[in-house]
Amino acid sequence: MSRTPTVGGNWKMNLDRDASVALARDVCSRLGDAPGVEVAVFVPFPYLLGVGRVIADSGSAVRLGAQDLSDQDNGAFTGEVSASMLIDCAVKTVLAGHSERRHVVGETDQLVGAKTRKALDSGLDVILCVGETIEQRRAGQTDAVNERQVRAGLEGVSPGDMARVTIAYEPVWAIGTGMTATPADAQDAHAKIRALLGSMYSSVLGEETRIQYGGSMKPGNAVELMAQPDIDGGLIGGASLKGEDFQAIVEAAR
Ligand code: PEP
Repeated sequence: MSRTPTVGGNWKMNLDRDASVALARDVCSRLGDAPGVEVAVFVPFPYLLGVGRVIADSGSAVRLGAQDLSDQDNGAFTGEVSASMLIDCAVKTVLAGHSERRHVVGETDQLVGAKTRKALDSGLDVILCVGETIEQRRAGQTDAVNERQVRAGLEGVSPGDMARVTIAYEPVWAIGTGMTATPADAQDAHAKIRALLGSMYSSVLGEETRIQYGGSMKPGNAVELMAQPDIDGGLIGGASLKGEDFQAIVEAAR
């Protein structure tokens, strides 16, 4: 089974308007049509249109992504952004359940599942993020947490829609900390998530679904992580803010 690797740059709440356009230009010129790897950038809401224009003008295959969406269609939800608004801005893919939304903002597994379904029903692709905290890892709960978050995140998602879902395994303790799961630990978690998808859907679908690793991935550790058989790319925070580092990670995925 060959799965096209997928690499996402999560810019989080960083950059300003000029810097986001400059980074987008740099990424698009470095990656061009990025053969052999699917690449997306997850851009702060206010900069989606500007970055989208850069991508369109460059003709690059880099995909425009958003970091979150509402589980609601429209109405009195101050501060929220709907799937149709994202699509209006040429967004193709969206994160659901990033650990900073789960653990800083307080999103529940159920809300993450509702967002995933809303995104898919609206025509967006989804990266469903899961992963354990350091306390959960120390308590031996890594697999149980991943299973709970995958099951709730995919509740009601049909097999037909799974082609538009990528799972990002992101141990919370590795995100933005400089600490990385060992390739063996990451591979173990990925293999278990793949087996879980196989039991929830079918073994074929388990084999076809891409599972990215996220958590302090950088040029120096990307090759070893991506060489693991069940790691199909990366979701990159800090290192995605430097075009050169992001390009090196994309090349490692290829
Ligand atoms: C992330 O934001 O998903 C992430 C993995 O961040 P970092 O690469 O900075 O750990």
